[in-house]
Order: sequence, then structure tokens, then C-alpha cells
Amino acid sequence: MTTRPKWLKPSAMVDLRQTLMKLRPAFRTEIEDDVTNAELSRWARSKGLYYCRDRHNFVVFSPRPELVRWILTIDQSAGEHCAWLGMWLGYPPCCVRAARRAGEAQLDAWAARISKRRHIGTFRHIGVSGYPAGNALISHIPCSPHCSPSLRLATAMTKRSLPPR
Ligand SMILES: [Zn+2]
Repeated sequence: MTTRPKWLKPSAMVDLRQTLMKLRPAFRTEIEDDVTNAELSRWARSKGLYYCRDRHNFVVFSPRPELVRWILTIDQSAGEHCAWLGMWLGYPPCCVRAARRAGEAQLDAWAARISKRRHIGTFRHIGVSGYPAGNALISHIPCSPHCSPSLRLATAMTKRSLPPR
């Protein structure tokens, strides 16, 4: 089990696990600003990841060096970029489309509404109410309480364990 460095949000551990398990190509998170680039770079290297950090302390991590800068560039571009961002971050297309329909401006309200829905049976795996604390199997908002691609992603997280590093 990977221990969390203090500058990394608990929720980012979900994203990190998915990325190290190659279930997603990259993840993006916000870090504390007192972490030095030397620390970041040492940590990323120890995980086999590349990183790119912007001046607002958003960081993208990926095992693919070309992806980190590209994703950060999309993130900084003006306009409604969440659909593109979601696609490059490896979220299921149905959920990316749903987020685009909800509209970037209303994304938080939509997320709050969705997270209150009941997930039945195995679909409990795609509940994201525990995400801020790092207790979730997916890190995106599922398009519905019975989204199959989200469930596949979540199930893969429960089955495979991290390769030793
Ligand atoms: Zn979906």
C-alpha cells in the first residue's frame, strides 16, 4: 500500500491507484504550495510517473510524459473544457458526456445531486460520497447510479492489487 505524502489530498490516492493500475492514463489534482519541485519529482519518479505543475498548484501525473503537459494545457484553455479533460483523464465517455450536458458552471450542484442518489447492490461500488476522504473506487461523477463502465472501473480496483515497487 502506498503511503500518502502530506501534500497530496486524500482523494488523489484514488486517482493514483487507478493510474498505477493502468486503469486510467493520467490524473490531475491540486497540491499544497509548500511542496518543492524536487520533492514532487522524487516522488513521481518513485512511482514511475511524470508530472507537470502549473502556477496555481494544479498537477498532472502520468506514466506518459507527453500527456502531462498536454492535459495541463487543456485545463488552462478557456471555455468549457471539462469534456476534453475528462476524456484525456480516462473517464468513461458516457460520464464525460453527462458532465458536459450538466455544464461546467453547474458541475458542483450536479455532483451533489448525483452523490445523493442511492446505489443498489454492486453499484454501491460507484458511490463517490467517500471520495474526498479517499474512500472511493472511482474519482469521477458517474452518469447514473447504474453506469456499467463506471462499475467495471470500480470492480477492477477491487480485484487487482498494486504491483510491488
Ligand atoms: Zn457513465
